[in-house]
Amino acid sequence: MSALFVNNLRFLDTTLRDGEQTPGVSLNPDQKLEIAARLAAVGVDVIEAGSAAASEGERDAIRRIADAGLSAEICTYVRALHQDIDYAADLGADSVHLVIPVSDLHIAKKLRKTRDEVAAMAYDAVEYAKSRGLIVELSGEDASRADQQFLQELFTEGVRRGADRLCFCDTVGLLTPEKAAAFIPPLAKIAPLSIHCHDDLGFALASTMAALKNGASCAHVTVNGLGERAGNTPFEEVVMALEILYGYQTRIKKEEIFSLSTLVSRHSGVPLPINKAVVGEMAFTHESGIHAHGVMREPSTYESIKPEMVGRKRRMVLGKHSGSASVEAALSEMNYHADEKQLREIVKRIKKLGDDGKRVTDTDLMAVAEAVLALQCHPFLKLRQFTANSGSHMIPTASVTLMVNGQEITGAATGDGPVDAAMQVLRNSVRDVADIQLEEYHVDAIRGGTDALVDVTVRLSKDGKIITSRGASTDIIMASVEAMIAGMNRLLEGRT
Ligand code: MN
Repeated sequence: MSALFVNNLRFLDTTLRDGEQTPGVSLNPDQKLEIAARLAAVGVDVIEAGSAAASEGERDAIRRIADAGLSAEICTYVRALHQDIDYAADLGADSVHLVIPVSDLHIAKKLRKTRDEVAAMAYDAVEYAKSRGLIVELSGEDASRADQQFLQELFTEGVRRGADRLCFCDTVGLLTPEKAAAFIPPLAKIAPLSIHCHDDLGFALASTMAALKNGASCAHVTVNGLGERAGNTPFEEVVMALEILYGYQTRIKKEEIFSLSTLVSRHSGVPLPINKAVVGEMAFTHESGIHAHGVMREPSTYESIKPEMVGRKRRMVLGKHSGSASVEAALSEMNYHADEKQLREIVKRIKKLGDDGKRVTDTDLMAVAEAVLALQCHPFLKLRQFTANSGSHMIPTASVTLMVNGQEITGAATGDGPVDAAMQVLRNSVRDVADIQLEEYHVDAIRGGTDALVDVTVRLSKDGKIITSRGASTDIIMASVEAMIAGMNRLLEGRT
């Protein structure tokens, strides 16, 4: 344990409250319960499950989360209103995050009240919440812009009236590490103090870490940094910064961080920036020749976090920065053996694809390698005919005629949609030969509009071997079929 921090740093996750306040995000009670269960399993101490005053659906979700018997403390956001506090108590929450505006800007302009009036409301709410048997975290909204003397007095009296914990809310992301070093120590002496930051200026992580180093004992976080405007302090970044940069052992099950991130991204519908720290798609992907070469010899040369630590895998992709070492490694994984001259030619062509702005998939590499090595190519699978139907009041159906190793096979299948039916019928057609699994399916539209060229990438596996391949067409179903057939040919020809 590092002496910089208090023992037993805690995490309050507010993905389900502040995270859900992201414009356009709305989670249903089932999704909220699923996320809450995963947060508890990953080791979060407190789950802010929602804002009980928001809606009937929100109350239903909070009640179900409170009843689920999770190992985490279940908290709800409340204003200084008896009605809000009654909701929290009646729904079975353990604690309330009682938020009181503390900057003169918020007190005068938002509430049109005086400091004394707001303080009186806060004390009344603290006492009422305690009388209803709740743990109270008294939280100063817009604390970064508050008169710190007033904030200290409010917190001191709030604790005297029964508040169990305090929270410094950097509501609009104006805290700095320097201000945290000045503001946090006197407040942390009053009672256990949480820090709640927003990322409007990209300082959420830095200010949260500074507050923790200066006596705060709990970080308010959200998964993926989801939250209003630019979001909240990202859970995964605080955990990994503590562990990697400061050598502080958290009790978080780090290997579950990536699957939790994926779940939240899926349910919230908010995609992650590809270069997001820790959980972004490219966070453990290498293309550059020199870097990829270094990583192949010793991963720590260009990786500060081991991907397995957060439940991820390292990925090498080819492109214009690829050197001959990564191309050769990829080729040998596919059982191609090029001599030095052939390898130079393959690298040259791969770089050309990259220069043309293309993502280089395994299929591209295979095509290049086969062209350069002048391999004869008799595809195992060849498409003869394909149709797919869907519409209202019918089950989506796809039918196909394929040449499988020179033999004609016809089949049909149904699915959840026409693409799903197409995937099913293709897999069924080769079932006698091989069990091919579709591991991942991804669509990109290359231009806007319904006439866009659609780029489908599939990841297929057979007996533990995994390949990716791509199809491009203005017809999403044909792009999917093309990607699938190219990939299946790769797997069935054994060149993996
Ligand atoms: Mn907030």
